[in-house]
Amino acid sequence: MLVLKFGGTSVGSAERIKNLAELIKSQEPKIVVLSAMSGTTNALVEISNALYEKNTFKAEELINTLESKYKTEIKDLYKNPIILEKGKELIDSHFGYLRSFIDFPIFTEKEEKIILSEGELLSTTLFHYYLSERGEKSILLPALEFMRINRDGEPDMGYIEEHLKEELKKYPDSNVFITQGYICRNAQGDIDNLQRGGSDYTACIIGAVIEAKEIQIWTDIDGMHNNDPRFVDKTHPVDELSFDEAAELAYFGAKILHPTCILPAQKRNIPVALKNTMQPEAKGTLIGNLKTPGGIRAVAAKDGIYAITIKSERMLLAYGFLKTIFEIFDKYRTSIDMITTSEVAVSLTIDNASSLDHIVAELKEIANVEVEKDRTIIAIVGNITKSDAGYGVKILDAFENIPLHMISYGGSEHNISVVIDSKYKKEALQALNSKLFGY
Ligand code: ASP
Ligand code: MG
Repeated sequence: MLVLKFGGTSVGSAERIKNLAELIKSQEPKIVVLSAMSGTTNALVEISNALYEKNTFKAEELINTLESKYKTEIKDLYKNPIILEKGKELIDSHFGYLRSFIDFPIFTEKEEKIILSEGELLSTTLFHYYLSERGEKSILLPALEFMRINRDGEPDMGYIEEHLKEELKKYPDSNVFITQGYICRNAQGDIDNLQRGGSDYTACIIGAVIEAKEIQIWTDIDGMHNNDPRFVDKTHPVDELSFDEAAELAYFGAKILHPTCILPAQKRNIPVALKNTMQPEAKGTLIGNLKTPGGIRAVAAKDGIYAITIKSERMLLAYGFLKTIFEIFDKYRTSIDMITTSEVAVSLTIDNASSLDHIVAELKEIANVEVEKDRTIIAIVGNITKSDAGYGVKILDAFENIPLHMISYGGSEHNISVVIDSKYKKEALQALNSKLFGY
């Protein structure tokens, strides 16, 4: 079985949906995971915001706009009047449901998550109808019946495996299954999601639990690139990445993949292929348990970083100081990305500032604390073993004219990271592109 995930642009219009049907035509059994049509989840977020603000006029307007987009697309999508009618009814019922929240007396996160799930429910059903118009049989698998997160917001792999297999068993003769990315239920059984961009994660979780032959993530770019094409002129796709390299790149900002999605695939050793819908024949990037060559493969940047420097003379020759610091971050469930230390100071970075004030207040009881915002982590990813010489010089050479705030080398053999002021990001990525990749 293959698992194929298509993002919002791949189902973004009637034209793209038709193209998608062609792309999945092979005989191989497959589960197709779809995102919402592009722009939909953002619109649903806006609708929810209007409902939080009790701005019913705005909510109604946003719902109308989104609905008319769907109504237009299905007219181009379906030729068969019976299917077109079914499509209209589907849209009426989903948008009617959305409108029912306008007069709802309370609006909480629970209602918001129901609203956010509508995009994937629509895209998958519309696609399923389209395949039926073409005379192609497919089964719509309801993600809300098997995708589930636990109390910590992590996928409940045991539950998912059991329930997905149960669903699949109902259709022993079927070859094409369609399901919703992103949406799931939580430990209370309420509708929830895997965070924005979570459809990749859905695909990798499904691929892992059914031990798929391959997980394919289809986007509009020919794989993972060596650098961010939004900031540098010349980049190239990287043919192959090990799971570790891909995980570092996804986490540190390579936008093509959801940051944690590699993990379930890696655990069960299922290869993940990144493919381009515009050039289906292109090689793309293959991620797997691969022995990739030594050296640097790619760089990526992650913005929105806070750097915190904690300084105390008491640290000198004392033990237990780091433990005290970490306990404060632990208490506020804030994960630390990067860390560097000297004898009397520790600098570390976080990207989630929701408890920053509390953390700083507690740190100030034991040390001097300085916080810098608008920082960027640049991650340089590849295979750099403890016996390799020269990489440090090459990398730092690129930062000749850019002030460096932190460097982390040696934590992993796959990642060297530096922290800079975000205003130098483009310059840094360009300099690395020329020093490391010869562009
Ligand atoms: N539709 C969701 C989003 O826009 C999930 C996804 O596209 O992966 O974030
Ligand atoms: Mg995505």
